[in-house]
Amino acid sequence: MHTAHFAIIGAGTAGLATAILLAREGHRVTIFEQVDQLSPVGAGLLLQPAGLAVFEHLGILDQALKLGAKVIGLEGQLADKRLLVNSHYHQAEAHRFGLGIHRATLCHVLTEKLAEYSSQVTWRMSHCIEKIQEQQNEVRVLGLFKQHRFDDCFDAVLIANGARSQLRPKAWVKIDQPYPWGAAWTIVPECLSLNPEILHQFYDRAKIMMGILPTGAIPSAPQQRLSSVFWSLPTSQLHSFLNDEAAEQQWLRQVEERWPEVAEWLKQLVSKEQNQPQWLSAQYRDVVMSQFGQGRIGVIGDAAHAMSPQLGQGANMALLDAWAFSQSLQTAKKNQQIEWSILWQHYHLQRSSSTQFYQFLSRLLTPLYQSDHWWAGGLRDLIFPWMYQIPYFRKEMAITISGLKKGPLQQMSYQQIAEYQRHENRLITNNQSLPECE
Ligand SMILES: Cc1cc2nc3c(=O)[nH]c(=O)nc-3n(C[C@H](O)[C@H](O)[C@H](O)COP(=O)(O)OP(=O)(O)OC[C@H]3O[C@@H](n4cnc5c(N)ncnc54)[C@H](O)[C@@H]3O)c2cc1C
Repeated sequence: MHTAHFAIIGAGTAGLATAILLAREGHRVTIFEQVDQLSPVGAGLLLQPAGLAVFEHLGILDQALKLGAKVIGLEGQLADKRLLVNSHYHQAEAHRFGLGIHRATLCHVLTEKLAEYSSQVTWRMSHCIEKIQEQQNEVRVLGLFKQHRFDDCFDAVLIANGARSQLRPKAWVKIDQPYPWGAAWTIVPECLSLNPEILHQFYDRAKIMMGILPTGAIPSAPQQRLSSVFWSLPTSQLHSFLNDEAAEQQWLRQVEERWPEVAEWLKQLVSKEQNQPQWLSAQYRDVVMSQFGQGRIGVIGDAAHAMSPQLGQGANMALLDAWAFSQSLQTAKKNQQIEWSILWQHYHLQRSSSTQFYQFLSRLLTPLYQSDHWWAGGLRDLIFPWMYQIPYFRKEMAITISGLKKGPLQQMSYQQIAEYQRHENRLITNNQSLPECE
């Protein structure tokens, strides 16, 4: 079989995971990344069971578990101490858990694995891709490398260059807009005043939301466990958050009035002369596409479906994209060729309904946590406790957070995603049966 040569634009979670799977299947991969060095900046994130199933499939779960922080559930407290959100992964399936992970660790485990296939992988760092042109039997990639223009041809191109991508085909884009709210975030030593196996959130109406996520350690300092702290804000206020001492005091008072034990921990952090928390800001985009691929071009990860991180699904969806693309490629191999139309048909079957489900839910729920609507928080505080009373909804919520939903009534199976068997140097997969159970 002719081994295809793929170009992947962007070495984030989606690009790296896809590169591993393509190289493992014997293809050649060239990764174009605009930065000089991979040093991922960003708040820690929560990998859900769906993402961990892909990690198992990739063979990197054990490495990730060594550094990451096992998270058994999500608890969201209101200002009057009531638990509004109380979802634990075991409610979806016994023995499931999530993993808080630092971005540097996520990048480390993925690149370490990719290094095992170095003979098939070409890295093109400092290469910023500006344009992609599909031609009859190949795709041309045009860009800039140290102020010099270059172009190169490949059998196929995967666009994995994140939420702000300018490369995704315009005709496929239905929505591409910034969210009016974002978050200030910082990385601090692990918070031991709260259960370190829980993602803790704190809400007051839709105006105040804080998150404390255990994220484990980074590879260069494996003994130092860390947490990420998030504080939700309208994007117009992000640049001025805690810009002087008075602002910091006012912020601490806001927390103290509602959650004194958390304020105590924060006060200890900010009182330290050294290692003062460094706050950075994150802004979100909403990207909805009518399709993810056609012919020899595909779009994966945030480039295909960026959304607010309220549901904590972005990196998981990027990993599921990688897994689904490799499964679809297996299915589309016919007579020593790749049938691109079959590949995308299979890919859309696996990814469209799940992506639509999570994007719909994200657009529905985000304003209940981050908005100026006076009614949003009150409505949320009425509906959620009622839903948690009903075992069916409790389980559905846990499955949803696990990242395994394929639609309102369908779900994927962890085991089928995680499965990987090597046989005569070929990947054996369950292509025929899509991983879902009603
Ligand atoms: C505050 C915050 C919290 C989050 N929390 C969670 C969470 O708890 N759980 C979760 O699953 N997700 C979370 N997410 C979402 C998650 O971070 C993203 O969904 C995920 O990182 C997307 O990965 P990606 O590979 O698609 O894109 P990215 O990680 O953005 O990677 C894109 C890469 O492409 C490169 N690039 C861009 N343009 C070009 C170009 N023209 N040429 C070459 N290279 C280019 C970039 O340099 C970058 O390396 C969170 C996001 C934010 C902002």
